[in-house]
Amino acid sequence: MAPQFETRLFINNEYVEAKSGQTLEIHNPTDGSLVASNIHVAGEADVDDAVAAATKAFKEGPWSQMNGAKRGDLLNKFADLFERNLDETIKLESLAMGIPVGSAKSFAHAIPAYFRYYAGYADKLEGDVFPPEDGSYNFVQYEPLGVVACICAWNVTYLYYAWKIAPALAAGNTVIFKTSEKSPLGGLFAGKLFAEAGFPPGVVNFVTGGAATGHLLAAHPKIRMISFTGSINAGRKVQEAAAKSNLKKVSLELGGKSPAIVFEDADLQNAVPNLAHGFLFNSGQVCAAASRLYVHESISTNLIATLKETFEVISQGLGNSPLDPTTFLGPVADSAQFDTIMKYIAEGKKSAKLITGGNQKGNKGYFIEPTIFVDPSLDSKVLREEIFGPVLVIQTFKTEEEVIEWANDTEYGLSAAIYTENISRALRVATKIESGTVGINSAFRPDKSTAFGGYKQSGNGTRESGKYGLHDFMQAKTIHIKLK
Ligand code: NAD
Repeated sequence: MAPQFETRLFINNEYVEAKSGQTLEIHNPTDGSLVASNIHVAGEADVDDAVAAATKAFKEGPWSQMNGAKRGDLLNKFADLFERNLDETIKLESLAMGIPVGSAKSFAHAIPAYFRYYAGYADKLEGDVFPPEDGSYNFVQYEPLGVVACICAWNVTYLYYAWKIAPALAAGNTVIFKTSEKSPLGGLFAGKLFAEAGFPPGVVNFVTGGAATGHLLAAHPKIRMISFTGSINAGRKVQEAAAKSNLKKVSLELGGKSPAIVFEDADLQNAVPNLAHGFLFNSGQVCAAASRLYVHESISTNLIATLKETFEVISQGLGNSPLDPTTFLGPVADSAQFDTIMKYIAEGKKSAKLITGGNQKGNKGYFIEPTIFVDPSLDSKVLREEIFGPVLVIQTFKTEEEVIEWANDTEYGLSAAIYTENISRALRVATKIESGTVGINSAFRPDKSTAFGGYKQSGNGTRESGKYGLHDFMQAKTIHIKLK
């Protein structure tokens, strides 16, 4: 019987078997059943093949000659194809890592808009010209970097095509995209959509594999940039490998432990869905999820009771199939993710007060009840470390100064949310919060035109999306003309 999905690497616009001979398995997180036992893992020779294909496409052939308008046409065609194949894409993600298709769709709908946005930029890569002073005429033009590798987390793989592949291609680079070992099917499927859109061979390549494959990319002497999304630990290793090899550029989008602050004058009808559904989207497996909640003491009893009740209502649907479009909450991604989260919950039961959840739901698959801890001890892991699961930690505060200090008392700095009807206070606090994005009266919302990235150890200062993301995939060249 023909396979239901592609499991081979996508290099040079063809599906090829890995020369490494290695494969990996993926299991359906709803029940642990085998989804695929033969996902091809890229080894050294495979990564070399992908780099050779991407290098050739960058230096020779149609892509190297293609103008920005034509690159834009191809990006627009991919956007159309992605839209037409959206259901298949999200089904493949859901099978591998359990995201409910309804949630997946709400994010995936935005992806074509990113490609169309960057298609518009592809023929507008303007430079700068300076007045001819000191006998020379000077200008700066922006050029692509060359072969760019993207290494990604598994939680919303297709969002990373939008954040990474779209701007990289608009700028004229060629791309090798490594999907996460936890969710490789959607990425492999996307390969043929890029070919069908008309991207020449070697321009977009997909490889699969785990940390070892990622390391081969990070250490490769012919790759000019790694655009990385994942944990702080792995990001640090990528930066080291890049430094030890060819000092390639590294963009790091890393973890978070983001605060949400609810002041006494907040509109709770608006805040509660953001704090509950917004946080539990994708089972809390979102880098920017507001997993530390600070509530003003005057409203804390009421708000905590409402959140407990809301979590418990959401929990009733836990265990339903993620392939059912009405399911909101799915399992966590796999057994490793499940074990990590359950360890944090066990620690939380000792260092904080559990008010709801805290258990596996059912006895198959990796469903974890939406969980709330309150009053954690200040050194507890549930308060200080990223859990990347459906576990919310709540503290009450008295003053604005105090809550700003607590919110910033972390090495993370990805996102924050502030709920208040007082706009002056909202802007004052937003300015003092050490994070790359701040939502006022809203959970984090990615947008194609605004910058996304982390302060402190949530990143290394680079930004994705908008013109900020585009510039990350280009380098400036200054040209002087000496006037005679
Ligand atoms: P991870 O760091 O384990 O893996 C991310 C990717 O890096 C995977 O493709 C993995 O194979 C690869 N990898 C692992 N070790 C590597 C190494 N030594 N060298 C090269 N590549 C390596 O993270 P994860 O479990 O996939 O994702 C969860 C983490 O990602 C969380 O910390 C989350 O906050 C973060 N994340 C950040 C963002 C963001 O935009 N800031 C978005 C989503 C997820």
